[in-house]
Amino acid sequence: MIIDLRQLPGGISYDEDRGLATISAATQLDSVQTSLAAQDRSIPSGSCPTVGIAGLALGGGLGCDARRSGLTCDALVSASAVLPSGEAITASADDHADLFWALRGGGGGNFGVVTSFTFRTFPATDRDIATLVFPEGATAQAIAGWHEWLHNADHAIWGMVNITAGSGSGGCTIVLATPARDGPGRASDLSAAIGVHPVSNTSRTLNRIDFVHYFEGGAQATQPRAFVAGSDIIGEMTATAAESIVAATSTWPQPAGSATTVIESLSGSVSDVDSGDTAFPWRRQAASVQWYTEAAVEFANEWLANAHAAVQAYSVGGYVNYLEPDTPASRYFGDNLARLAAVRQKYDPDGLMYSGM
Ligand SMILES: Cc1cc2nc3c(=O)[nH]c(=O)nc-3n(C[C@H](O)[C@H](O)[C@H](O)COP(=O)(O)OP(=O)(O)OC[C@H]3O[C@@H](n4cnc5c(N)ncnc54)[C@H](O)[C@@H]3O)c2cc1C
Repeated sequence: MIIDLRQLPGGISYDEDRGLATISAATQLDSVQTSLAAQDRSIPSGSCPTVGIAGLALGGGLGCDARRSGLTCDALVSASAVLPSGEAITASADDHADLFWALRGGGGGNFGVVTSFTFRTFPATDRDIATLVFPEGATAQAIAGWHEWLHNADHAIWGMVNITAGSGSGGCTIVLATPARDGPGRASDLSAAIGVHPVSNTSRTLNRIDFVHYFEGGAQATQPRAFVAGSDIIGEMTATAAESIVAATSTWPQPAGSATTVIESLSGSVSDVDSGDTAFPWRRQAASVQWYTEAAVEFANEWLANAHAAVQAYSVGGYVNYLEPDTPASRYFGDNLARLAAVRQKYDPDGLMYSGM
């Protein structure tokens, strides 16, 4: 049985006195950000406009505010849920604390049906986006240099690396998000740290909603897109780890279209939380690597298998929100697995919930 929550009443409400937003489970991220931006507020979220707040927050929630505001689940203050027993509860640090811990990164569909989430918000301010393209031969150097520089940078700065293989490939793109009007300066700092001159370097200042739309792929990107994705969590971003990511990307079968590798840092506010403080375990690791393609499934699956193999020596697991079939839960939860299993056994002893893990 699939429960469709889209008709749940509630929507999005904002408590100005406490700075808290309460959001119905099935609300899509674009609605969340648009509605909060109208109040000059925001929460850390992911990039896809059509993703639901529930799945995102329950698995963690990695996005362009992560270094300054943490994961989506780190901003969670409480969650109302219907348990497999039929009981309706609200979990928080003070009530059903074990369930609250599990709902922050333990994956969707595991402990009960969450009906609404209450999040701490932050002020919606203008941000700069700086985009730097480095030549293809310098990709591994750019990844390693980016990682080290960002790891030590102010938490207000965020960045990701995109590498494309197949059609449209060529070099490595680094996108930085910085405080307004800081973009050009931070882009120069990054290039100097990498030690390679970018072939292109642009910066612009965006208001909050244009900033959100930029990562959504434009204001018109409201239709879900079909893709295949997987992930690896890189423990330490050494020079050889960076080279293995480049090698993994290049295993893409060239005539089959294109594929993109997206590297996001787990530093900054993400690592201010201890690994055992929420169910999301990757607080002391270097980066999440997402393998993404909209090409045919048979090519995608072959590439995923090759990419995982290429980075195996540096990978410590995967990100549960990029769930892959036939993958043990231990890959997603590391040292938090036993505690999650105990919470699941307590709240769903008969295994009523199904999450694909
Ligand atoms: C285009 C795209 C871009 C993405 N970008 C990012 C990104 O930038 N950062 C990131 O972290 N992730 C990203 N993701 C991954 C996304 O966070 C996950 O796919 C997430 O699980 C989607 O949640 P959903 O509620 O939309 O999907 P669903 O398929 O509805 O749910 C996902 C899982 O959660 C369970 N679930 C859903 N609602 C509830 C509920 N109310 N209570 C209990 N369980 C529930 C479901 O049973 C299922 O197991 C992206 C996904 C897409 C499609």
